[in-house]
Amino acid sequence: MEKLKFEDLQLTKEIRKAIIDIGFEEATPIQYQSIPYILEGKDIIGQAQTGTGKTAAFGIPALEMAESENKNLQSLILCPTRELAVQVAEELKKLSKYKKGIEILPIYGGQPIERQIKALKKGVQIIIGTPGRVKDHMNRQTLKMDTVKMVILDEADEMLDMGFREDIEFILKKIPMQRQTILFSATMPKAILGLTKKYQKNPEFIKMVHKELTVPRIEQYYFEVKEQAKPEILSRLIDIYNLKLSLVFCNTKKGVDKLVENLQARGYLVDGLHGDMRQSQRDSVMSRFRKEAIEILVATDVAARGIDVENVEAVFNYDVPHDEEYYVHRIGRTGRAGKAGRAFTFVVGREIYQIKDIQRYTKTKIISQKIPSLTDIEEIKTNILLEKIRGTVDEGHLGRYIHWTEKLIEEGYTSLDIAASLLKIIIGEKSREISVQEESFSDLEPAPKFVKLFISIGRNQNVRAKDIVGSISRETGLQGKRIGAIEIFDTYTLVEVPRTYADDILDSMNTIKIKGKKITIERAMKK
Ligand code: ADP
Ligand code: MG
Repeated sequence: MEKLKFEDLQLTKEIRKAIIDIGFEEATPIQYQSIPYILEGKDIIGQAQTGTGKTAAFGIPALEMAESENKNLQSLILCPTRELAVQVAEELKKLSKYKKGIEILPIYGGQPIERQIKALKKGVQIIIGTPGRVKDHMNRQTLKMDTVKMVILDEADEMLDMGFREDIEFILKKIPMQRQTILFSATMPKAILGLTKKYQKNPEFIKMVHKELTVPRIEQYYFEVKEQAKPEILSRLIDIYNLKLSLVFCNTKKGVDKLVENLQARGYLVDGLHGDMRQSQRDSVMSRFRKEAIEILVATDVAARGIDVENVEAVFNYDVPHDEEYYVHRIGRTGRAGKAGRAFTFVVGREIYQIKDIQRYTKTKIISQKIPSLTDIEEIKTNILLEKIRGTVDEGHLGRYIHWTEKLIEEGYTSLDIAASLLKIIIGEKSREISVQEESFSDLEPAPKFVKLFISIGRNQNVRAKDIVGSISRETGLQGKRIGAIEIFDTYTLVEVPRTYADDILDSMNTIKIKGKKITIERAMKK
């Protein structure tokens, strides 16, 4: 795939700067193809499915062409719903961050009309409105169309489905003929073509064609999630599947940086890869990933292009890709050389339509899955416990424990009941802790990343940080660099450990000695 550079599109400095701030790394195909025509003043029909970046495809040129000194209404964008009008207005506001003197206003039904009238009086150059409410304002003479130079129909098919045809025609008829008419739609039913015939001049038809795609045969799942819950769910999946090497895709550079920071704080070995990094930095990240010194690599599509690493166990679409071709490229990074691979996609709100599109065009099945609960993690942990038991039996040296067991057997209990009861006691304790945690997670506010543990030994016993790190690593396998701050006081020590490891550490360290001294270890603070 060639790179679709925003630089090719001859945008002004102000808009380019805003695009960089937002973090778009390259233009989407519909943006790359539409923007030059719109800037030339041509009418266009743009067809591309949901999530392909149509808003910026018309938003960027609309802002480029807006005149700051001219306080009249210049562009009218029609959207099917209030939600979309607000969303489009927000994206345009971000894109206009450095272009001063442009007023953008969403107007829609449901908001008090008086408030909108007041806002309109201040002079607005770009309006994003639902057809019904725009027509309302026109009838009240609070909105005049005679200065409009550009009209954009966003999601035209949906507007027609919702019965806005008459309103749209009413509005279009009132806009001077000397105007540019832009239409974007995911589908092109006859009714739309009728509209374009009647109201557009020689429109350029830009359609995103779908290539035949071969999708690797790997397990594909999606999860419907809230945006702010993504880091937590990602961590859970990595823990549950015990993933040693994963590739996580974000749509923006900013997204990469944010996620890397978040995962680092959670104690993972993670690094990021995006277009803003120097080649030497990128090479160093890649070589560490290849050597498996990083277990999670977070990347944008551009940066990950050409990456070929064996043994990637899972690919995460942290953001749904803009293009099904990207989807196929991304998930093709796992399941190499006949090995098993998994692809997980996080879906927020309306992105579910993109998943449907991707499935249709790639002719594969992406299976919906429930967000793994902490109870699922418990099941995995239980399996680990069973494994530990097998190991302990194999090792032997169980003399006095056997002695106690025999005592119970003499009393008439069976060894099966005794073993099962012991498991119930151990696991029961764990799941109580889990259910308490589950409550605090239910709203998925950011979980505390580290917890502080108290260890009953300190400076008076000549304890140094490396003794603490050493014994935690030995007992639990947690790598030293994942351990947080260590504070040593005269008689005790406080150590920060990743939240997800706290229970294991507490379990396995309560019977050990440090510097020859028996210790106790417990949580330092209640949350
Ligand atoms: P559509 O209208 O085609 O359904 P949107 O314009 O709503 O799609 O864009 C979907 C998402 O993609 C939005 O979150 C938007 O900010 C983001 N986006 C748009 N263009 C780009 C780009 N060039 N690079 C990365 N993300 C983009
Ligand atoms: Mg849209």
